[in-house]
Amino acid sequence: MAEHESLEFGKADFVLLDNVSMDEFMANLKLRFEKGRIYSYIGEVVVSVNPYRAMNIYGRDVIEQYKGRELYERPPHLFAIADAAYKAMKRRNKDTCIVISGESGAGKTEASKYIMQYIAAITNPNQRAEVERVKNMLLKSNCVLEAFGNAKTNRNDNSSRFGKYMDINFDFKGDPIGGHINNYLLEKSRVIVQQEGERSFHSFYQLLKGAPDSLLRSLHIQKDPKAYNYIKVGGQIKSGINDNADFKAVADAMKVIGFTGDEIQTVYKILATILLLGNLSFGVDGDVTLIENTKLVSALKDLLSTKEENVEKAMLYRTVATGRDVIEKQHTVKEANYGRDALAKAIYERMFCWIVGRINDIIEVKNYDAKVHGKNTVIGVLDIYGFEISKTTGFFEQFCINYCNEKLQQLFIQLVLKQEQEEYQREGIPWKHIDYFNNQIIVDLVEQQHKGIFSILDEACMNVGKVTDEVFLQGLNTKLAKHAHFTSRKLAPTDKTLEFDRDFRIRHYAGDVAYSVVGFIDKNKDTLFQDFKRLLYNSSNPVLRGMWPEGKLRITEVTKRPLTAATLFKNSMISLVENLASKEPYYVRCIKPNEVKSPLLFERHANVRVRRAGFAYRQTYPRFLQRYKMISEFTWPNHDLASDKAAVKSLLKSCGFEHDVAYGNTKVFIRTPRTLFSLEEQRADM
Ligand code: ATP
Ligand code: MG
Repeated sequence: MAEHESLEFGKADFVLLDNVSMDEFMANLKLRFEKGRIYSYIGEVVVSVNPYRAMNIYGRDVIEQYKGRELYERPPHLFAIADAAYKAMKRRNKDTCIVISGESGAGKTEASKYIMQYIAAITNPNQRAEVERVKNMLLKSNCVLEAFGNAKTNRNDNSSRFGKYMDINFDFKGDPIGGHINNYLLEKSRVIVQQEGERSFHSFYQLLKGAPDSLLRSLHIQKDPKAYNYIKVGGQIKSGINDNADFKAVADAMKVIGFTGDEIQTVYKILATILLLGNLSFGVDGDVTLIENTKLVSALKDLLSTKEENVEKAMLYRTVATGRDVIEKQHTVKEANYGRDALAKAIYERMFCWIVGRINDIIEVKNYDAKVHGKNTVIGVLDIYGFEISKTTGFFEQFCINYCNEKLQQLFIQLVLKQEQEEYQREGIPWKHIDYFNNQIIVDLVEQQHKGIFSILDEACMNVGKVTDEVFLQGLNTKLAKHAHFTSRKLAPTDKTLEFDRDFRIRHYAGDVAYSVVGFIDKNKDTLFQDFKRLLYNSSNPVLRGMWPEGKLRITEVTKRPLTAATLFKNSMISLVENLASKEPYYVRCIKPNEVKSPLLFERHANVRVRRAGFAYRQTYPRFLQRYKMISEFTWPNHDLASDKAAVKSLLKSCGFEHDVAYGNTKVFIRTPRTLFSLEEQRADM
């Protein structure tokens, strides 16, 4: 139990057991939330409830209170877990990672930033200039990545639309000397379309609202988001976001990190290119497909530093190799539209990855000689897109996001159980198998070779003849008909929650989600005509050209079938999980108190599947005595028994709790929280 808090704030550490009901758990969480206590522990996992208001708990004074302290010495806080990860890294030379999970809008990204700020605040006591520089860049990188990778959604005004894993490297003194960011699948479909009430990526609105008129003019664009088809829906939304100020902050952050003027200009040009692409429309004249608004072509050629005819040709034709011949095939209007949208998405995504790559070039540890400087250790911070459950059906992207969350849940289960088992062994307590919901079955449903949904999707994409979303759905229906976590309209015709024939549903660990198969095939194939790649590669802007090295290839040289989006994502998730599993993990579970972003309401019905298996609570003998010795005459004020262990035994025996405890080598284990609560009450009565 955390110290320094009375029970009026609820229990700070609810080590959960099967026989503590979810209701009790949530009631306690609610009580704490209402008292302004947003952090709690379940054992060593931090549970964080989004306060939806500014909390005065992250200042220098609070940081000082957590610095170097043990987890249980202070009330629950993110800083405590950050400190624990830091201590393990510094004292024991361990690579550690902090995994932050929770559904969309629960507070993961905010948590990751507080953790980084904490680490920045407690390191570099000697104010070494190089370390300060690195810290500043690491912190500033958040601002840039959020501008390009986050967007307003109906769940969260600043929703991460990519997954992010950031390593911070430390030298032997425990000071940050560099870092590395891995990014995962950006939701690029947002570039061309958003749901009602949502926006595209912040970067577009920031540019329109924040850029000086002269810059906008040179980019051939105007201030009003409503003028652009791709962002029109979101352009009308009023929200608390200050795009104007953010534009300047991001430009400043990019400069501080070390982006050159040309690079920043190219980024703006790419954003403008996308906005204009969205307005490009195609028509037919006889059997010729043509661009209707040719003025835009002239603007595009400026932005892309190429010739007008190159733009036009790439928009209207594709080069195909038929046997030995290479021919130019004219697009239909439909194909031209498809190509244009694919181009817009691809250049945004490529730019995003390039930005991450540039940041990595700059923050990467250089010239570090472990022989001279000692081991270079790492703290990784994982902040992904949260689980998305909603009443509306999800698409390919939601499916990937939710699969990613399943993978992390699986890792959590494995590691927590593994840690648990190891602790039992260390303490000499017999290990009993514990029942819990293992979501491996859902992970398999998605990723298993041949049988999983991704495999069925890849297979449908390679189908000879018809390649449609329906073919994919048929594959699902035949191969997964008996799966307990899968259903569809065809398999469950009377199921009212599935609105359309094209919908299927997955029973995720966090809840049921319906997905529409529409777009799965296209998004999985993720085709971008080689002609576009060549167009960009042949730009006379070296920054843009550098983003598209594969544009060098001729059509006849492009033979290999590229990996599908699903396969790439699966592979990246598998290596992420391997990486995390190789480190000592610390967990933060974020919870959303309500659906309306209110600081006052707590109305969630359990979405917290965190369970501490087996014994609920464990504490070293001396610490246990420190807290409870006043309860028993044998131990108060001091005991005269042979050991603290013996003293704890006699204390618990005098309270009648022996049946509920086990005595390890250095720690006492208590099975049910009730025992602990009762100890707490007795202590409070003293
Ligand atoms: P997603 O999965 O959509 O990226 P997320 O879990 O990263 O969601 P955040 O963006 O971190 O969610 O949080 C959503 C919003 O909630 C924040 O923009 C902020 O307004 C509020 N919020 C979250 N955590 C805190 C906090 N500790 N203090 C104050 N406000 C917070
Ligand atoms: Mg986020």
